Amino acid sequence: MTPLGREIARLIAAEGPMSVERYIALCLGHPVHGYYMTRDPFGVDGDFVTAPEISQMFGELIGLWCVDTWQRMGAPAPVRLVELGPGRGTLMADALRAARVVPAFLDAIQVHLVETSPVLRARQAATLEASGRAIAWHGAIEEVPEGPAIVVANEFFDALPLRQFVRSPRGWCERLVGLDEAGGLAFGLAAEPEPALRLSAPEGALLEVAGASAQVMGALAARIAAQGGAMLAIDYGHAGGGFGDTLQAVRRHAFVDVLAEPGEADLTVHVDFAALARAAAGSHVLVHGPVAQGAFLGALGLAQRAAALARHAAQDVAAAVAAAQKRLSEGGPGGMGELFKVMAVSDGTLAGLAGFDSPGRHPERGPSRRIGQGDGA
Ligand code: SAH
Repeated sequence: MTPLGREIARLIAAEGPMSVERYIALCLGHPVHGYYMTRDPFGVDGDFVTAPEISQMFGELIGLWCVDTWQRMGAPAPVRLVELGPGRGTLMADALRAARVVPAFLDAIQVHLVETSPVLRARQAATLEASGRAIAWHGAIEEVPEGPAIVVANEFFDALPLRQFVRSPRGWCERLVGLDEAGGLAFGLAAEPEPALRLSAPEGALLEVAGASAQVMGALAARIAAQGGAMLAIDYGHAGGGFGDTLQAVRRHAFVDVLAEPGEADLTVHVDFAALARAAAGSHVLVHGPVAQGAFLGALGLAQRAAALARHAAQDVAAAVAAAQKRLSEGGPGGMGELFKVMAVSDGTLAGLAGFDSPGRHPERGPSRRIGQGDGA
């Protein structure tokens, strides 16, 4: 067992089985042993690769989206440029470089990074040093000073903990992490069902309730409605609803058992975009998308940017650019273009946003099917 596994087993022995939510939170965020707190997990030598690490084109296009959004907002100054969970800081560095085409944007922005990991904060500082900008770090979105904001979150919501419930003959019972007879970690179910959950579903169905994601989205939407701006969320996930266990553990580019290596493997979930839109619906905002990442990047000019990069490049560089373009935009095995989705939330004045061809909708009036706590039959 890993050191964190031993600590979690001790906690369970003392306090009883813990929620999947607490288990994920400890695995990722434990101050000493938490996965993100102790390492830089990105890249070919790490555990997984994200879009900004695949190609500079990703961050550049997001940067141009931010510039375009700022112009649609009426070019306010100052404006907060906020990134949630910036990883190595690569997306922000590429975005700031691309945004040089509009110097007034660079003059107007103040850069704020929301990051809990001290290791990754140091990495972000190193990556962004060349930008020459003052950067402010925060532990939570609520700490970002007020004012109009443009917020970007790539592969952020998939890293937030969630609760799981299983439909048993007794009702919806929370899935818990407990101990088996040998003292190892094992999944089980709470004895008592959750009275507030009354969705109808076949026995064995699993429901995920992403409370932390909803809390962050709700806070962001309230801020955007009151102070203006937009947020862009890019992540793997589904357009809404449905049942199923999406919790995965990844180490060295392969799936591993979720309970086998606490603190040593990354844990992620698929993002339920309908649930995120519902979390925004308490505020007067517009929701754009979700659209497939491939379509979004295509609309922002991925093919043109790839052609420009390849034009004067050596053959191997040109081939790498073409491969990255394919990986970011196409479906199929290894492709991110279909599995990854892009959704934006904006204040009510921003009816159109680049990359989303239809105008935003008010989430409470949107077409998405409502599922969730208390909505069922
Ligand atoms: N956006 C980056 C990294 C994605 S990994 C990229 O695309 O490469 C998830 C990031 O979110 C990491 O930087 C991690 O440390 C951070 N993170 C995880 N939980 C967080 C939380 N609760 N608050 C702030 N940042 C968090």
